[in-house]
Amino acid sequence: MLAANLTRTPAEAEEKLRAGVQDFISLGRPLLADPEWAGKAKRGEEATISRCISCLWCFESMLKGGFTGTSGLCAVNPCTCREYIVPEALPGEKDGKTVVIIGAGPAGLSAAEVLARRGFRTVVFEKEKTVGGQLVLGKAPPNKERLAWCYEDLAYRAKKNGAEIRCNTTATIPLIKSLNPYAVILASGAAPVIPKSIEGASGDNVYIVDEILNGSIKLNGKHIAVIGSGMTGLETAELLCEQGNEVTVVEMAQTIAPGIYHQHTDDIIPKLKCYGTRFFSGCCLTKIEKDSITLKQKEDTIKTIPVDFVVLSLGVKSRNEMEQELKKTFERVYTIGDAKEIGRIAGAVHSGYKAASEIQ
Ligand code: SF4
Repeated sequence: MLAANLTRTPAEAEEKLRAGVQDFISLGRPLLADPEWAGKAKRGEEATISRCISCLWCFESMLKGGFTGTSGLCAVNPCTCREYIVPEALPGEKDGKTVVIIGAGPAGLSAAEVLARRGFRTVVFEKEKTVGGQLVLGKAPPNKERLAWCYEDLAYRAKKNGAEIRCNTTATIPLIKSLNPYAVILASGAAPVIPKSIEGASGDNVYIVDEILNGSIKLNGKHIAVIGSGMTGLETAELLCEQGNEVTVVEMAQTIAPGIYHQHTDDIIPKLKCYGTRFFSGCCLTKIEKDSITLKQKEDTIKTIPVDFVVLSLGVKSRNEMEQELKKTFERVYTIGDAKEIGRIAGAVHSGYKAASEIQ
């Protein structure tokens, strides 16, 4: 029997063969993420494989491409279907010029991997204690642990190529200057949007998704309203359900999960319904009190829902306060990833690759 069976790593493949689950391994998406998968497995270089994180961007981009005449893409491999930009084709750096990267999320790490491979002295400053940026939170909901592979693999290869990643280090202008960089890449990611206009939004019973996803706030047996039904809101709702809470999802748009690729919603909405999650779309949150929220619906109908806590998932905004100062101080400054434009994993990884390719 030949089966793909969601095999992502050589270790998983060996285990399935050993257990007699199947006779042969076939690979689909893992080869988009890393066409060298089989060769690396054979040579014992598993650690350098770029693992497929099951994000479905290849399907989504392929469908979009059907309308625009472009090909499907892979989130973790910027060269998929664009093999003309493979890093081997990029010019090497002989003088060991220094590039400083601010932020070790997927964008910064993607840039670091390519620059180090090209021969630049590559130094990454990360203010948090670990690499990963927003993906550290993104991997927290149920069944999302594979997202960690994106930054783990990028960090592994960046370091292997010679990049230096300094965690717990806030990048300041004097610190960056001390390295006399040829170029600086700002990959400082995004910060959550916290609307001040909603009455009660700064109350003690209001949290942002980050606090739930990073585990600093743990709730159990409560009725919680998650405000915002993007993927982060829905996945946080699922985590809260799994932790034993009763969840209500509120969305301002007319439909739940507006603009989300259908395969994602087809997966998560039924699970949330199984938990008994209630959904209110076309509703604007107007007030948060200590035991309820007030929603304004179409035609100004007012609805009050009793809740214990509110979790805001209202999107993120670029975190790029350093950009102007960097541009005043250094000759070559590139802003990438969410720091430039809020996007998905693919956007971050690809923009890091692009910036690292363009530095001459
Ligand atoms: S886009 Fe995502 S799901 Fe598709 S091959 Fe790449 S990592 Fe895997």
